[in-house]
Amino acid sequence: MKILMYSTHEHERTYAEEWAKETGNQVQMEMVPLTAETVKMAKGFDGVSIQQTSPVEQEVYQALAEMGIKQISTRTAGYDMLDLETASQNGLTVTNVAIYSPRAIAEMGVTQAMYLLRNIGRFNERMENDHDFRWSGDLIAKEIYTCTVGLIGAGHIGGATAQIYKALGARVIAYDPHPDPELAPFMDFVDVDTVLKEADILSLHVPLLPSTEKMIDKEAIAKMKDSAILINMARGGLVDTEALIAALNSGHLGGAGLDTLADETTYFGKQVDAEAVPGDYHELAEMPNVVVTPHVAFFTNVAVRNMVRISLNDVVAIKTGERCKNIVK
Ligand code: NAD
Repeated sequence: MKILMYSTHEHERTYAEEWAKETGNQVQMEMVPLTAETVKMAKGFDGVSIQQTSPVEQEVYQALAEMGIKQISTRTAGYDMLDLETASQNGLTVTNVAIYSPRAIAEMGVTQAMYLLRNIGRFNERMENDHDFRWSGDLIAKEIYTCTVGLIGAGHIGGATAQIYKALGARVIAYDPHPDPELAPFMDFVDVDTVLKEADILSLHVPLLPSTEKMIDKEAIAKMKDSAILINMARGGLVDTEALIAALNSGHLGGAGLDTLADETTYFGKQVDAEAVPGDYHELAEMPNVVVTPHVAFFTNVAVRNMVRISLNDVVAIKTGERCKNIVK
């Protein structure tokens, strides 16, 4: 079978080549995204795999169908760049990779929390700026096993996060409207206010929905413990950035680890001109008690390998009519 892989990143190549060798299929890798212009490259292929944030134009669906292609497989969890209705009208099945490595995201959240808990950024700032290498009382740290970790959202990533903190000896509490009984050994399910009030580390793992947008606002932050650390590995829109900056400036919150920021799509994952970087990024990134990473919590060898392999397997499954659990409904 011949598969065309659009928007190929260098770091995906080895995994696609490894898959092709193992399965006896051919994968042609192109760096361009799937567009009205590039769709013609798919002629003669049995299927396509994509990874892009730019919307797939309307004429692409019909063009693929006319070439006899039956699917579009995205190597991402998100599929908002695809019009499912038009895909279906053209007989195209859409697949995505919803779960590629919850541990990857969980480990990044824990890494940032541990860095903040030990005040590493604050020590660095004093050493670099003031040659101040003293053991200042204001930077004395807590040990993780004495902390309460509060999770909002306990699905795949929240569950993996709870397991790591539990193994480190922390008390883990979580709010989820649909608690998974299989996760009960790793956390106690409580109401959202209890999570906000009792967490030394508050870690967000919910999808961005109208009901979760800005769930961490001024009122929610006011309920949080003094010196609590906020970790957001989920979506920037969950947090009211202005309220967060105010709470960090006032010293109410102890720190924040942020892999996602509101409006990040204009600059995360890209190299941009200095003017394109928004003010709230600068304000946060300059704080010694804040860690900002550009939506890279997922970016591990395990996760990228899984994204590539699952997507390519799905192309084959749809073409051969095998069962495929990743069809987007
Ligand atoms: P999931 O669907 O497995 O879990 C989400 C959980 O949130 C579910 O258990 C759901 O019941 C719960 N939930 C929904 N609304 C809630 C609410 N109002 N309050 C509390 N809980 C609520 O999803 P997942 O795979 O664990 O992913 C979680 C989020 O992580 C994703 O939605 C995505 O935004 C983000 N994510 C980030 C990265 C990254 O690289 N930073 C990568 C993948 C996913």
